Amino acid sequence: MNEKEQIIADMQQVVEQMFKDDVEENPESVNEYFDCSACGKNAPLAGSVQYGKHRLCNSCVLLAETGFALKKFDNIQALIDAMEDKRLEELCDFIKKDEAKGNN
Ligand SMILES: [Zn+2]
Repeated sequence: MNEKEQIIADMQQVVEQMFKDDVEENPESVNEYFDCSACGKNAPLAGSVQYGKHRLCNSCVLLAETGFALKKFDNIQALIDAMEDKRLEELCDFIKKDEAKGNN
């Protein structure tokens, strides 16, 4: 595992833990939905994070935190802009592939 893969693996654990902590603190958060500022999906509050005026779903939090860690961008607006025109598609695919690997 190279350094980049290690960062992604660490972030996946951190973000997964955020979800678990939210569910533990407030089990209802799994059933409460909001519209994610980045991907636009209607997602559960559990595992979501408020960044300034934007709230991101658990999947997008992973993209955001991984992007910050890999220095792909340094503010949440950049991620939101990038999600709009799919400039981060490659990074997203990379993370998805890594997730698939982890599930084997
Ligand atoms: Zn999202």
